[in-house]
Amino acid sequence: MLTAQTDGEKLLGNLLGKTPILEDLHILCDQMGGRVTGTEPNEQSVEWGLKQFEEAGIKAWKEPFEMPRKWAEKSAQASITGASNWHPKIACRAFSTGTPEGGLKADLVFGGMGMEADFEKIREEVEGNFVLIETIVMSNLTELFLEYINAIEIESNAKKYGAAGVVYMSSREKKLLYRHLTSYGIENDMPMIVMARDDATRCKRLLERGKKLTLNLDLDLVDEGAYNSYNVVAEIPGGTLKDEIVLIGAHLDSWGLGTGANDNGCNVTMMIDIARQIKALGLQPKRSIRFVLWNGEEQGMLGSWAYTQQHKEELDQIKMKITVDIGSGKIDGFFVNGRKELGPILKRWLAPIDSLGPFMNIPDPIIGTDNYDFLAQGVPNLVGKHDVYNYCSDYHSESDTYDKVNVQNLKENTAVTGWLTWQIANDVDFQPTRHTREDVNKIIEKFKLERGMRALRLWDTWIDGSRGVK
Ligand SMILES: [Zn+2]
Repeated sequence: MLTAQTDGEKLLGNLLGKTPILEDLHILCDQMGGRVTGTEPNEQSVEWGLKQFEEAGIKAWKEPFEMPRKWAEKSAQASITGASNWHPKIACRAFSTGTPEGGLKADLVFGGMGMEADFEKIREEVEGNFVLIETIVMSNLTELFLEYINAIEIESNAKKYGAAGVVYMSSREKKLLYRHLTSYGIENDMPMIVMARDDATRCKRLLERGKKLTLNLDLDLVDEGAYNSYNVVAEIPGGTLKDEIVLIGAHLDSWGLGTGANDNGCNVTMMIDIARQIKALGLQPKRSIRFVLWNGEEQGMLGSWAYTQQHKEELDQIKMKITVDIGSGKIDGFFVNGRKELGPILKRWLAPIDSLGPFMNIPDPIIGTDNYDFLAQGVPNLVGKHDVYNYCSDYHSESDTYDKVNVQNLKENTAVTGWLTWQIANDVDFQPTRHTREDVNKIIEKFKLERGMRALRLWDTWIDGSRGVK
């Protein structure tokens, strides 16, 4: 006997079935490639994203916002001379400064892990020279986060002791390079690079034996002033509750070493796929569903910050903001970002699709992706929680390419996220309250977010009230 399918079940079935999601991923990653905000591939991806929504018959538009500094690496080369002579493999940290024509030459000194005590030991040698910072091999999200946290002390020491630049040992093995923001973010004003672990440990062994090494850095960059970038926004208007919004999004931009596949092309294609299937089925949600492909995320979540400023008057209407940004490991729950009360409600929404789970929701807040400004504005927000899969090893690196995306997981994650979005958009009883500044402060204290917020340069703007609910 056939039983009538609910709209949510129809959507789930379509998303698990044949859709163009992998063709989208191929175009976004293989064809356009790495999408650094401000570069041509990024601009192409904006136009492409817009076109995907429009071709599906969904109203879509671009929303401009100002990016404060245009930065991209054109080429980064290094040579070591002295006791040994070779060309180590390097990449710039994001917002590294460039070097003069012909390069910048200085001695390389070994600065241990870069803590105050390490710098004290080399206090006489560090001024005017490059300092090599040792790292451990990163193997999980906690260690990845520690890299960001340690960078604050390392880089402020480098400045204080007058180093000419910072040379980080890559925390990945086998010559793999990656790109992170410096702890000074867009305000960084010194050369900072990552050197292949194989090369950096060779330097360390030589330096520890008292051998003298000189490093010549030749960093050719795009480094210009402010410009406009765009978020891509699309909307399926609601019915009876059309003024209420469920906002779901993923960031379109990436760092340019790889092709931004797990971070975050796969989840961009997820957003497009969900919108397309809702439209193809002719479904009418009660609340409006708004899809946003964020830009400027890697450079400080600047697109989503701008959105919360430009849509300030509308924030009360956003009943939920969902962010998907942790690759293509299996979604096995959601971060409820400090709102414990969402746990049981999520459990109820997800119960009918438990065969795609099981799902475990986590109270802890995520602050390093596009949910942050919504959390800081007191808007209820979720971040997809994934099985770690290969997210860490390829994160921000040359190896983040299409072949690393787990396509089966991506299909199921899209179905889970689509299902959840549909439940939220139609659950009239779900009427969450927007948090006040005091509520958000309680979350910051309870989950001890200050250190992480400092590492991501979010602390000062929260304290002075320029970013987040007043
Ligand atoms: Zn990301």
